[in-house]
Amino acid sequence: MSTIYQGNCARCQRKVRTAENFLKAHLWASTAVFHWNCFLALMKEHGETAAEEARWKASRIDRV
Ligand SMILES: [Zn+2]
Repeated sequence: MSTIYQGNCARCQRKVRTAENFLKAHLWASTAVFHWNCFLALMKEHGETAAEEARWKASRIDRV
């Protein structure tokens, strides 16, 4: 088993493995992991505002 445990998807709470398409994003003051599909679904559910906000938070955290 060479899969590396990455954490739980912030949307569906299932484990994310490196073998899957996933996205690591700095959100809510911590690194959140999403399945790529989950991230896309999240953006569809919450619209572009959520994406903008996430990006804004990410850039803000990076500067701290
Ligand atoms: Zn997921």
